[in-house]
Parts: sequence; C-alpha cells; structure tokens
Amino acid sequence: MQSPEPQSFDRVLSSMCTEPHPAAREAAERFLATNPGDPATYDTVAALEERAVELLATVTDHPTPTEASGYVTGGGTEANLQAVRSARNRHPAADANVVAPESAHFSVHKAAEVLDVELRTVPVDDEYRADINAVAAAVDDATALVVGVAGTTEYGRVDPIPELGRIAHDAGAFLHVDAAWGGFLLPFTDHDWSFADAPVDTLTIDPHKCGRGVVPAGGLIAREPAALDALAVETPYLETRSQATLNGTRSGAGVAGAVAAMEALWPDGYREAAERAAADATWLADELVARGYDVTEPELPLVAVDLPDTTFEALRDAGWKLSRTGAGEARVVCMPHVTREALRAFLADLDRIRT
Ligand code: PLP
Repeated sequence: MQSPEPQSFDRVLSSMCTEPHPAAREAAERFLATNPGDPATYDTVAALEERAVELLATVTDHPTPTEASGYVTGGGTEANLQAVRSARNRHPAADANVVAPESAHFSVHKAAEVLDVELRTVPVDDEYRADINAVAAAVDDATALVVGVAGTTEYGRVDPIPELGRIAHDAGAFLHVDAAWGGFLLPFTDHDWSFADAPVDTLTIDPHKCGRGVVPAGGLIAREPAALDALAVETPYLETRSQATLNGTRSGAGVAGAVAAMEALWPDGYREAAERAAADATWLADELVARGYDVTEPELPLVAVDLPDTTFEALRDAGWKLSRTGAGEARVVCMPHVTREALRAFLADLDRIRT
C-alpha cells in the first residue's frame, strides 16, 4: 500500500499545531535518530537542547536566559504535569493541593490525577479570566501551586498573572504560567505574563504550537534550578547520573526543530506572525458580528463564535476542521497556516450554508 499523505492544513481551524517552519522540518529530519534523554551519548542534540532552553528563556523574558533551567518536553501536557510535580515535591504539605481556574487546560486535571494531588478549580470572571477573589479564597497552607493561563485553549484569554503570583507567594505556593499556546504571541502584546512581568516560578511554552517547531516539542522553563532539581531521579545505567525529565528516550527531532524554528523566527518572524494573526482574528470577528453572530472578543488570535448546531455540522461536512468550547461555541484559532484567504473561503461557505 502506498503510504498516505498527511492532511492538508487548508481547512484546519481548530488546531493549536501548525505547519513547521521549513528550517525546523529539515533540522528535525536530520536529528530523527537522536535521543536528548541520553545526553552523554547524544551530545550534539544535548547541546541543541541547551540552546532551545536559552531561546525559550529569552522569549519568556527570563532574567538570565543562558543559565535558565528547563527542557524540551513532549508537549504542554508533560510541561504542566512536571510543573505540578515539582511544586508538590518542593512543598512541605503531605496533602498538597493545586489551585487553577476552570479555564485551565485538561492536562492540569490529568496531572492532578496522576500525581494524586487535590485540584481546586475556581470560577472565571465574565471575561473568562481567573477570578482573583475565588483564587484567593481557594488557597491555603497546603497549596503547593497556583496555575495561571496566558492564552486559554477555549477563548485565548490571559489571566491576571501578577495578581496570581502575589496570591501564590503570600500563601507559600509556587506560580506556574501555562503559556503553551500563547507564549510566542504574548511578547508582542502589552499583557503581563512573563518572568519579567510577574513572580513566575515555572512556565510552559510550546515550540510545536505557535513556535513553528515540529511535533513533539513542548517547553518547561523554570526561574530557579531548584524547580528542575526537585524532579531529578538517579539514572544508574546512563553515563549521566540523574534525569529530571518525565520521559526517558525523547525526540531529538523535536529539539532540533524547535531550535531551528526559533533561530529563524525570533523575534521578527514571530512578531510578523503574531501581528498578522491578530489582524485576521479581529477581521473575522467583525465579519461574524456583521452577520449577526455572538462572538467572544479575541484577546489573542482565537475567535469563539456561537453558531447554530446545524451550521456547525454543515461547516464540518464542508471539510472545515472546527471544534467547540465546553459551552458550545465554535473556535477558530488563527494559527500561522490560517490565512486571510482561508478565512474568506470559510465565510463564503458559511454564507452559502446560511441561505
Ligand atoms: N496548555 C494549553 C493552554 C493548551 O492549549 C494545550 C493544548 O492545546 C496544552 C496545555 C496541552 O498541550 P499538548 O497538547 O502539547 O500536550
């Protein structure tokens, strides 16, 4: 059987992954058979991973990018899980809990279940951002971690990160920012989200989303080495003595692709992409409002629109890869592959279906 071609991105509106940068694709292919999980054997890719961490720390405004701790994870799920694990391991409470807004990605729920940590989800406000009062009421002496999201999966919202940091640290907890999707967009906005903007302890930022690396490449970056030290286990059969990552063998392709993409795009290429995506999201939102639909104002380039079920299904039947929020709105994520032309074609199909 002839091997199938992967799907085209032409009609993919719901995904937070995108076409890799050509340099990332090429670098990934060269590093397919390397394992950054065994750095003493695969030293070239290990050095590349150090470069990846430095670049991710630069994007997230870490005070000393060349000394930042972190690693290239399998994705945002692993980075979030490891942030929860690190906070739990560093906190004295035997029954540690984690406080997160209900908008937090479901990976935080997985993390709590896997690590057997109590997860306290608190409501969001009318603008879908973490409700500060609810977070303050939920933390206590056993809170190891407060999670804030900088670019929520459903509505692209940015939580009030500095306030969450204050609440967390006053309670003796750590602050984790999940910028898995938003991390390569936020440097070009006025939002407070980074290591420089707030007392962030750990942060998720994924090259395989808006970073235009290849899958799999997530990122976990920490302000202090202690966050990673708290994850280390001894590794007797490897030449290196300890390992802080969750997976053992990891993707060298993901690491090499992430470095190649970031070296090609930081900062100007990412700025251009972020500005174009913001303009496209605003344009699409206006077009949908003009057609009488309820639209959630895009803060980052993600448009949530209330479409009747029949319209949603007809658009899916027409080949548009759309998904819904928990409340039922259709989500259009303006990723780099989502061009204005694609959005025009989407609206043309919507107009045809409506009439
Ligand atoms: N965090 C956020 C905010 C996300 O949007 C996602 C996925 O979309 C994740 C974490 C999980 O990332 P991954 O699917 O790479 O594990």
